[in-house]
Amino acid sequence: MAISKETPKRIRVSLGSAIVLGLLEGTIDAEPTTAYLMTYRKDKCTANCAFCPQARESQSRTDMLSRISWPVFLTEKVLNGIAEAVKDSAIKRVCVQVLNYPNVFTHLLALVKTINQRVKVFISISCQPLNSESIRQLAEAGAERIGIPLDAATEELFDKVKGLSAGGPYRWENQFKLLSEAVNIFGKAKVSTHLIVGLGETEREMVNTIQKCVDIGVLPALFAFTPISGTTLENNAQPQIQKYRRIQIARHLILNKIARYEDMRFDTEDCISDFNVEKKTLRKIIQTGTPFLTSGCPNCNRPYYNEKPSGPIYNYPRTISQTELSEIERQLSLYGV
Ligand code: SF4
Repeated sequence: MAISKETPKRIRVSLGSAIVLGLLEGTIDAEPTTAYLMTYRKDKCTANCAFCPQARESQSRTDMLSRISWPVFLTEKVLNGIAEAVKDSAIKRVCVQVLNYPNVFTHLLALVKTINQRVKVFISISCQPLNSESIRQLAEAGAERIGIPLDAATEELFDKVKGLSAGGPYRWENQFKLLSEAVNIFGKAKVSTHLIVGLGETEREMVNTIQKCVDIGVLPALFAFTPISGTTLENNAQPQIQKYRRIQIARHLILNKIARYEDMRFDTEDCISDFNVEKKTLRKIIQTGTPFLTSGCPNCNRPYYNEKPSGPIYNYPRTISQTELSEIERQLSLYGV
């Protein structure tokens, strides 16, 4: 079946996905179980998120998103690669990430329809939909899940890194409104948002926002801030691993309704000082390794999106070894677990 004229002829594919789809030769330390695609255009995104190499004013390479490179391929070849990889059970989901530009919605809609017609695979999209009508159209076109990124944990930080002060089109209130509308259309647990740890928020602020998202039926996926050369935030540091681990546990407890933000205690610096969960229970949870795996849609493991394979590994894309779990316990030793 030929692709429709609205479907973009070219598309970016994350390097690891391109190898799994047979588009490039290479070896990878951890294979992605989702094929990550990104809309292609010669120019950058019209938005201006301060952490993003695709941002309008960033000086970064145009083939980068986070620390991953995304070479361009013919969409037709990518679709064939996805069909084969799904047949071999190498790929369980396709995630389409979208830049912002004037006719992006037409491209996205056509792309989702095309993938849906060609391959029986779950489709997630990570985008900035315009309104509830466009969210509905994406669901009808075959998207199984949608992600609408908040990225920042507070309204003030959001404005600074993505909103008006950053020269971007996004507004905190509107993002929450779209997330709620998306839950009404896609259903609870089918809508995600990204939260980046390390943009200047406190642990209390991050945990509070995680709770707010979960309360409205939105699944928060955690990312560690990653400085990319050429972006506004290129000189900022990655978050402390201990802070990241505490937030991963808090997210796990909230998501699984083991504890709420209001139950947790914070010290004078607003770091988590007590999860208000029995030590024995906490230890069991840590030993499962689950809180420290990549978070997001089912089968999304985003290998090395935030970290070098040499570490520190913020989000594990694979089963965590006992040695690594012991190290994680050491990172959390403050809590006597
Ligand atoms: S909207 Fe997405 S691609 Fe565009 S600058 Fe922001 S994070 Fe980057």
